[in-house]
Amino acid sequence: MSKVNDVPARIAAQGPFSCIITGGLVATPSGLAEADVGVTDGKIAALAARGCLDGVGGRVVDASGCLVLPAVVDAHVHFNDPGLPDREDMRTGTAAAAAGGVGTVVDMPLSGAPAVTSVETLELKKRAAAERAVVDYALWGGLVDDNVAELAAMRDHGAVAFKAFTCFAGDDFPYARPEVLYRGLAEAKERDLLVGVHCEDEALTASNERAARAAAKNGARDFLDAHAPITELLAVDSVLEMARVTGARVHVCHATLPEVIDRVSRVRGDARVTVETCPHYLIFTDADLERLRGVLKCTPPVRSRESVEGLWERVLNGSVDVIASDHSPSTVAQKNPASGSFWDMWGGVQGVQTMLPALFTHGVRRRGMSVEALVRLVSENPARLMGLYPRKGVIRIGSDADLTLFDPSVRWTLTPEMLLHKNKHSPYIGMEFEGRVKATLVRGRKVYDGEKIVAEPGSGQLLTGA
Ligand SMILES: [Zn+2]
Repeated sequence: MSKVNDVPARIAAQGPFSCIITGGLVATPSGLAEADVGVTDGKIAALAARGCLDGVGGRVVDASGCLVLPAVVDAHVHFNDPGLPDREDMRTGTAAAAAGGVGTVVDMPLSGAPAVTSVETLELKKRAAAERAVVDYALWGGLVDDNVAELAAMRDHGAVAFKAFTCFAGDDFPYARPEVLYRGLAEAKERDLLVGVHCEDEALTASNERAARAAAKNGARDFLDAHAPITELLAVDSVLEMARVTGARVHVCHATLPEVIDRVSRVRGDARVTVETCPHYLIFTDADLERLRGVLKCTPPVRSRESVEGLWERVLNGSVDVIASDHSPSTVAQKNPASGSFWDMWGGVQGVQTMLPALFTHGVRRRGMSVEALVRLVSENPARLMGLYPRKGVIRIGSDADLTLFDPSVRWTLTPEMLLHKNKHSPYIGMEFEGRVKATLVRGRKVYDGEKIVAEPGSGQLLTGA
């Protein structure tokens, strides 16, 4: 898996601690180490070689046989709260997150009601999350066609980043036409805001879909053809050029193609860009979409086997900054419309609970990815991107004691009953995983005990960045 380092004792407080996590293999900034972690007031107060904290006092959490990881920071989820409780809410979404080893989620501004595109709607989202979340959370605001002047105020009220689409994203979330995106990025540069972009070319995808529908081409392959790689690449090229010219910080959300990663790599010297992909683009192919249908429908869509392997190559060589779930809930009925038409199926994959075991299985076990690289992709880098580092995303003295105990030896198969999000569908059902979340702690409190949620709704806290 990875080599084990010695850990020099770092003890900031003498104890007794509120809890001590003992017996695990801890993912420290300097590598995996057989170490014990002492927690005081929700913060990591000691990191010492195994046994060094024996007898100091404090509730003992036995992590024998487990990796102790900084809890995942999922930079991209849609929890639909407030407004669409039949799909998800902050309680069920964050419960699924905790069961997946996620200690912090960054919730997207669309696919709730109302969409978060103003200070007023941001405050509604904050209230919903404060009542129901069981893990910590930060919030994206939206960059839409008429709110460029409001971005700075939303940042001042807690938004850590801003999401824009280059293509249709729903009637309540107008997409950023090129002139809007350009003005938005100029404002983002001025105010040092981060803008994340969903990259697909509107003119091409919309006209492809119109033509397909008119010809009664309603299948999975027709959907894939309408969202062919060129539609993603055209939008990425345009967005990267705007990032270069404006100098704004731009995050390319959910890249599906190795060619997107290469484009980002090429401009890194001239532009402040980062790139994200998602587990489903690393695990499923277009053939899986034809088999699984609605449950795997998302935009941009899953790609060819060749693209999946090309994407892995770039994940493994360090060219990808962040892996996020893009957890996008819907009801079972929305995935199975009466028409049977692929166009009428809701687009979005539910994956916040399966991201960590899926990446451990397919990355660490099957492709030789180090645990340290996994931690960088799902914890450290997203925390840095969102301005939450080093409070989140790392196991070191002074950081929040957000810890995931992950047992790498357990083999298990996902069943619908295991899913804690509201609607029990997932393309991962029936898939075998290696490694399972045994507990998730947020600020030293156990939120998930390996079977169920043990924290109260509303115990999660808002994070507003650096
Ligand atoms: Zn999304």
